[in-house]
Amino acid sequence: MNQIKIGKFIATCRKNQNLTQMQLAEKLNITDRAVSKWETGRALPDSTIMIELSNILKITVNELLLGEKIIMDNANQKNEQIILEMAKEIESKNKIVWTNMWIIMIISMIGLIGSLFLVAFFMEEGIWQIVAIIGAGVIFLIPCFYALKLEVSVGVYKCKKCDTEIVPTYKEALNAMHMGFTRYLKCPKCGKRTWCKKVIK
Ligand SMILES: [Zn+2]
Repeated sequence: MNQIKIGKFIATCRKNQNLTQMQLAEKLNITDRAVSKWETGRALPDSTIMIELSNILKITVNELLLGEKIIMDNANQKNEQIILEMAKEIESKNKIVWTNMWIIMIISMIGLIGSLFLVAFFMEEGIWQIVAIIGAGVIFLIPCFYALKLEVSVGVYKCKKCDTEIVPTYKEALNAMHMGFTRYLKCPKCGKRTWCKKVIK
């Protein structure tokens, strides 16, 4: 999505309708700051108000997303372009989530190993040392749960038997055994439990 182009297009259409930013904002029950953010390309309109916004501006949602008027002759081609751009956007967001998950895991691993090292070398043997080791382990679980949440939120798992794409819930993923990013999941289509590979699209 080209936010700058969309922003300029919104501004042009708004002026064509003889509306100020304030008047448009009032019609949509939002602040004029939000309108200004769109028009300067700093943000996209929320998907929940895109239809209403398009109606007010007398354009289609597709035109809004593309940032230009669509001439009927090449409407299909333009629609495909929009879908491709959206897919690309989701892809790059997924990549960011995936990278964040790795960073969280690596930092917390280093933290865990570091604290276990400190406890082993600098604490006297005894009950408090055991408490500290358990404590470090429990604290380590927090980023693990969060990382799992991120992991489940992107991509799909593939059934080994029939190649069906499986999207497990957080609970299902939490309860499923795993080796790296391969999880032992039940396929909803063939009903078999297999080691399903994670696929990031
Ligand atoms: Zn299957």
